[in-house]
Amino acid sequence: MSLSLDIQTIVILLLVSTVLMVLVLAIGSRSGTRDGHRSWIAGLALIALAWFLIALRDVVGPIITVALADSVLLAGLVMLVAACFEFGGKQIPSIFLLLPPILFVVLLPVRDQFAVYTFIAGAMLSTALLALGVSIWKFGHGSVRWPLTMLLVASAGLVVYRSVFVFELEPSNTKLVEFDPLNGGTFVAIFVMTIIASLGFLQMQKERAEEKLMHLAMHDGLTELLNRRAFFELADRELTIARREDKPIAVLLFDIDYFKRINDTLGHDQGDAVLREIASRIKSTIRRSDLFGRIGGEEFCVLLTNLENEEPRRLAERTRRAIGDSPFANVPWPVTISIGISFYDAESDDTIAATINRADKALYRAKNEGRNRVAIHTPNINSPDESRSH
Ligand code: GH3
Ligand code: MG
Ligand code: MG
Repeated sequence: MSLSLDIQTIVILLLVSTVLMVLVLAIGSRSGTRDGHRSWIAGLALIALAWFLIALRDVVGPIITVALADSVLLAGLVMLVAACFEFGGKQIPSIFLLLPPILFVVLLPVRDQFAVYTFIAGAMLSTALLALGVSIWKFGHGSVRWPLTMLLVASAGLVVYRSVFVFELEPSNTKLVEFDPLNGGTFVAIFVMTIIASLGFLQMQKERAEEKLMHLAMHDGLTELLNRRAFFELADRELTIARREDKPIAVLLFDIDYFKRINDTLGHDQGDAVLREIASRIKSTIRRSDLFGRIGGEEFCVLLTNLENEEPRRLAERTRRAIGDSPFANVPWPVTISIGISFYDAESDDTIAATINRADKALYRAKNEGRNRVAIHTPNINSPDESRSH
C-alpha cells in the first residue's frame, strides 16, 4: 500500500495550518509591547500568502504565481528576521526589505529554466533562513535560543542542498511544484520550521516576560537593589548553607544620618537621588557575591558570606568613608551614614531577622554616640531592652 498525497493538497494543508497559527498568535497578542510580536504575525501572514499563491498556480498559471510566491515567502522570512531584531530592541537594516522585490525581478526572466530558477530562489531563501537563525542567536533569549538557531541553520542547509541537487535532475524535469520527495520535502520542512520557530519565538517572549516580572517582584524600583522580601529570602538560603558548611556570616545595617533634613530642605526627589547615590557607593565597596538589599526607606543591609577575606569592620569603615568623605553633587552639606554590624550565630537557632535585629541595636548605639560611625553588636554592651527610633 502506498500513501500518496498530491502537492496541491499538501500546500492547502500548509496554508490552513499557517493561517491558524497567525490567528492563534494574533488572538494572544498584547497591544503596546515592542517585542516583535506584530512583525512575527505579519511574517507568518506573508508566508501563508505564499502558500496560497502556490496553491493557486493551476488556476492562474504557474509562471508568475510561483515567482511571486517565492518572493512573498522571502518577504515573510524577512519579516520574521525583523521581528527578531525588534525583540532585541533593534531595527532591521532596510537593505533586507529590498530583497523580496529584487528576487521577483531576477526570477521572472529565468522562469523557464527550472534548475537556474530553483538555484536562485533557493539561494535567497536559504540566506533568509540563515539570517533568521543568526538573528535568533544574536537577539534571542532563554532555553530555546540555541535549538532554534540550529534548526534554522539546518533548514537553510536543506534548501541549499535542494538548490544544488536540482542540477542533477533530468533537464526535462521542469515541473516546478511536482510532489517529488525533494520538492514536497522542502515545502514540508519550511512549514515545520515556521511552526517550530513561531512556538520558539513565543517561548522566548514568555521566558523574558517571566524574568522581567521576577525581577520586578524581587527588586526595589528606585535603587534596583533587592527589596526587603527578596533580601530576607536569599539571606535565609545563605544562612542554611553557612550552617551546613560552618562558615561565619556578618550583617551590616546602614541608616542614613539626618535623612529627614535632606527631604525637608531639598525635597523628596533630591532625597531619592541621595538614596540612589548611596546605594551605588555601597555597591562599589562590597563584592558582587555579597547580598545587598534596601530593607527599609533609607535602610540598607549587606550580608557578608566570605569573612575569611573580608573583615566586616574594615569594610564598613571603608563604606562609611566612601559616603561621608566625598560630597554629594546635589547636597550642600556632608551626607553621612551610620552602620551596625552583627554576626550570625550558627550554634544557636539564630535567624536572619534576629541577626538584623542585633545589627539594629548596634546601629542605635552608633547613632547615639554621634552618628557617622560603625558599631559592632556585642551582647554585654547592647542591653536586650534597647529600643530606638531613627
Ligand atoms: P537619623 O540620623 O536618626 O537616622 O535621622 P533621620 O532623619 O534619617 O531619621 P529616620 O531614619 O527616621 O528618617 C527616615 C526618613 O526617610 C523618613 C522618610 O520620609 C524618609 N524616607 C523613607 N523612604 C524614602 C524614600 O523612598 N525616598 C525619600 N526621599 N525619603 C524616604
Ligand atoms: Mg536615618
Ligand atoms: Mg531610618
